[in-house]
Amino acid sequence: MQTIVTQSVGVAATWINRGEIVAFPTETVYGLGADITSDAAIEKIYAAKGRPPDNPLIVHIHSLHQLQEVASDIPRSAESLIHHFFPGPLTVILNKNPEVSQLVTAGLPTVGIRLPAHPVAQEFLRRCTHPVAAPSANISGRPSSTDWKAVYDDLKGKIPCVLKGPQSTIGLESTIVDCSVHPPRLLRSGAISLESLRNVVPQIRAGSSNEKTHSPKSPGLKYPHYSPSAQIILCEEGYPPIERETNSAWIGISQQPEGIAKTAICKNPEEYAFRLFSFFRECDREGISVIFCEMPPADGIGLAIRDRLQRAAERNDK
Ligand code: AMP
Ligand code: MG
Repeated sequence: MQTIVTQSVGVAATWINRGEIVAFPTETVYGLGADITSDAAIEKIYAAKGRPPDNPLIVHIHSLHQLQEVASDIPRSAESLIHHFFPGPLTVILNKNPEVSQLVTAGLPTVGIRLPAHPVAQEFLRRCTHPVAAPSANISGRPSSTDWKAVYDDLKGKIPCVLKGPQSTIGLESTIVDCSVHPPRLLRSGAISLESLRNVVPQIRAGSSNEKTHSPKSPGLKYPHYSPSAQIILCEEGYPPIERETNSAWIGISQQPEGIAKTAICKNPEEYAFRLFSFFRECDREGISVIFCEMPPADGIGLAIRDRLQRAAERNDK
């Protein structure tokens, strides 16, 4: 299959409305979208990514008017979160509208919904006839794609169209809050921190997104994620005893230990999040075998960076 790269939201939306799959930019990471009313199109997402069939997709909307097409009821807590954080990097889990295909939700009675803030994503979604289900646009298990070139590297020949936009400004996937339970529960940390969520809904319980959970509440969390080919070594405080290899790399906020040639020194946790996945991919392209990753403080977006780093490192244990 030929993969076209376009900057035209009209062209990209036409592919979606014809039952095809399209990668598109958002402020978190690039998504791989399909029309939620086409089971054949949804199946193409799982096939292109090699995604396990029990890992549900997030439904993307461009306006609150589309909520009723996707969800069946909206509790007060979800209303408040939606009011404060939509459009933006937040996914809320709600009971699904019975019309929504089981393929989108991987058989769950609930559905994840997000309204991206990215203007290109919004314009693209406006031109799609129905809401668009989209996981991250990467081969399953690999780091999420934060620019169109990463999408192209992973999915060329497997999807017909990439909508080209700028690099994702946040660089990590959305915060996910399950509002189908009471009190609501944080399932995945992201750019919207637990502190800011609790300013709006104080009862939100912290989730267990670091656990290898087999709970049906968020099936995707049990799979390996975010992993480059290189081995990941987490550095909690100060520098670990580093065997100085010539092909190792360092990413963090502090200066790197001596003897490491390839580095990403980030000014703050926000820049760390922005650069993390593209740095992983760059290291793979350059044949780096070990990446030392400094663990940032566990607050704000630091919690989400720690979560992604821990999950990226888990693959080492296999
Ligand atoms: P991705 O977009 O690739 O980050 O994947 C979407 C994530 O959202 C997966 O890890 C899913 O487990 C989670 N998710 C989507 N829908 C639901 C749902 N109904 N309940 C719980 N988690 C969900
Ligand atoms: Mg993903």
